Amino acid sequence: MAFNVRTRRILIIFLISGWLISLCYYFLRTHLPKQPFQASQLYRDNRLLMGTIWEVVSPSKQASAIVFAEALRIEQLLSKYIPLSEISQLNRLGKSKVSSDTFYIIKKSQEIYRLSQGAFDITVAPLVDLWGFSDQNFRIPSDENIRATLKLVGSDKIILHQNNNVVEFKIPGMRIDLGGIAKGYALDCAVNKLKENNINNCLINAGGQIYALGDKFKTPWKIAIQGTGKSEFAGSYTLKNKSASTSGNYEQFFFKNGLRYCHIIDPRTGYPAQTQIASVTVIADYGIIADALSTAIFVLGKKDGKELAKQFPETEIKIYP
Ligand code: AMP
Ligand code: MG
Repeated sequence: MAFNVRTRRILIIFLISGWLISLCYYFLRTHLPKQPFQASQLYRDNRLLMGTIWEVVSPSKQASAIVFAEALRIEQLLSKYIPLSEISQLNRLGKSKVSSDTFYIIKKSQEIYRLSQGAFDITVAPLVDLWGFSDQNFRIPSDENIRATLKLVGSDKIILHQNNNVVEFKIPGMRIDLGGIAKGYALDCAVNKLKENNINNCLINAGGQIYALGDKFKTPWKIAIQGTGKSEFAGSYTLKNKSASTSGNYEQFFFKNGLRYCHIIDPRTGYPAQTQIASVTVIADYGIIADALSTAIFVLGKKDGKELAKQFPETEIKIYP
């Protein structure tokens, strides 16, 4: 078969380019450094614990079991809804010897009570019950009832016997509610257990209380904060080895005569906090601090809340009106 000169040229160009492409391919395969194998699988799991859904995301398959076990351990110690918990026992007896975990969280709560000028106060339990937030039977109590209940409130009336871990209430009938701080503490305990097991990357979301341990395949974890409407997002943050806690008036509330009454109580008045804040997010190194401060700042409002935050220089706060 005879080819004319033009066809022959085209064939030669094809052959040379094919040969060059093969050469480049061979060169790249043999000379470029091989990409290290990168596992890109994330394991996700969730469980109902401490009255909320706990979600765990991690490249480690074991992470969720470790987190859930630790949250369950803390819930069994601190929940006022579990009759045999240390807190239920203390609330019944008014004086009780407790574990080091329980002693530590009560001590920390008392510190934040003092720093927040009484805005964060775990002795709000009788007020939380009075307004119906414990049994969801919401009601507006009489002023007289509120005044009488306020006599049982004040963390300065908790005596901590450091030598034997005994906690004692000064006034009979006092009770404590760790709902504003316990999940943050449980996050810290879970993170410690993960580290003990050499798991250094994990995102935990306990119903708005978040801890971002390490990162997600070398990029920081990104979290979104829920807005005042269930479907909106208030903002997003990238976090590494930090906790974020959000307290808001949309978590639990009821309306009466056009007014919204929310589950966070101002212990100084006995009424649900009525600041102009819809929600506040606190980012801190520890879950216990982020959780307690977000509750406290919600009660204090923008101006006093910012003053409180100044006492915790490593924290960042964002207030959503
Ligand atoms: P959080 O969602 O972390 O802001 O906590 C709210 C929960 O903390 C409520 O459901 C109560 O159990 C408890 N609580 C309410 N008011 C206060 C307060 N002023 N100080 C401490 N805990 C509170
Ligand atoms: Mg809180």
